[in-house]
Amino acid sequence: LATLGVMGGGQLGRMFVQAAQAMGYFTAVLDPDPASPAGLVCHYHIQTPYEDEQGLAQLMQRCEAITTEFENVPAPALMTLAAHRPVAPGAQAVAIAQDRIAEKAHFAACAQAGGVGPAPYAVIETAAQLQAVPESLLPGILKTARLGYDGKGQARVASRAELAAAWAQMGQVPCVLEQRLALKDELSVIVARGADGQMVHFPPQRNIHRDGILAVTEVFDGHLPTALAQQAIAATQAIAEQLHYVGVLCVEYFVIDDGSPQGALVVNEMAPRPHNSGHYTLNACDVSQFELQVRAMAGLPLVAPRQHSPAVMLNLLGDLWFDADGRGRTLDWPAILALPGTHLHLYGKLSARPGRKMGHLNITGATAQQVRATAQQAAEILGIAPWA
Ligand code: ATP
Ligand code: MG
Ligand code: MG
Repeated sequence: LATLGVMGGGQLGRMFVQAAQAMGYFTAVLDPDPASPAGLVCHYHIQTPYEDEQGLAQLMQRCEAITTEFENVPAPALMTLAAHRPVAPGAQAVAIAQDRIAEKAHFAACAQAGGVGPAPYAVIETAAQLQAVPESLLPGILKTARLGYDGKGQARVASRAELAAAWAQMGQVPCVLEQRLALKDELSVIVARGADGQMVHFPPQRNIHRDGILAVTEVFDGHLPTALAQQAIAATQAIAEQLHYVGVLCVEYFVIDDGSPQGALVVNEMAPRPHNSGHYTLNACDVSQFELQVRAMAGLPLVAPRQHSPAVMLNLLGDLWFDADGRGRTLDWPAILALPGTHLHLYGKLSARPGRKMGHLNITGATAQQVRATAQQAAEILGIAPWA
């Protein structure tokens, strides 16, 4: 029996492991945390730091192929693994996705070839670059080049003084300053590409963020203008193609008002792995993003996914586990599960913290209207108002 390995033991690793196991694979997870969500459900949990030579050697010994579930896995560790085993996605693609400066340069290059460009931005690595920032980028968002997620490592700045203060606050690490855009909408596209270059995609997802964290994903007919959806798919394919990418890739887009009825696309960032906005595929599609990751890394056929049900995904953040006074709160799961078409996914995290992703709720149904109505009911029971 073959074993598939994953670097990182978070919820994405857990859902990958579950997909691999359903297809008959043994699974190995490298994550130092003994209680990591994926570590708890895999066959072999290697509990060393990501760069530990012995840990990497064990992972290689165990596994026929290796993937990664979080983008901050050290690229040198992936290179070490790739010398001996197929690693998907490759270290180079992951390294680009880890660094907003390299990522935006890649997007800009793809845009020159007719794709979708990033928001106007400037790289800030030196005091001179800080001084030289054009006025047109303000108000803007300062983002650290590395290690940001869920809106962490970002500061909204309205003036040069605020910009300088924010950069100092961040320890003057390499950053990008992006123009703050008025967003009409946000969407993302997930593709899977095989080592032979074959590529399949899911329909674009419409995403709603709250405080920089994904709150809701909606996917149903007519939720996005067709031309915009097609343009986003084509742009994502070009981004993957030009990285020679292998595995599942998600690219996030903004829709901005350009005077046209449908608006215009701007590319935000990419994730070299299955993505939170693709969790609905577990219940609404005939093949999930996690199964496609298994197929891509194991060299199995990639089939074009078919969405068989309209879907809404609600993220379940740690905030839900506390009341307004910070006391623990009991969630009424039976009431949620009494709603037809609800699929509860909890990640087995042992403690809740505000902002921590604890699980998600997928809601499927016969029509978009029905799914929306059920999602509203579920949100009410949970005490959240993500559409407000
Ligand atoms: P993720 O968890 O998706 O990796 P992240 O921390 O990398 O998040 P971004 O995707 O850069 O953060 O930004 C988070 C959210 O903040 C976006 O989805 C969007 O809602 C908002 N945002 C980011 N950049 C801009 C911008 N230039 N203009 C307007 N809104 C923005
Ligand atoms: Mg990000
Ligand atoms: Mg993002």
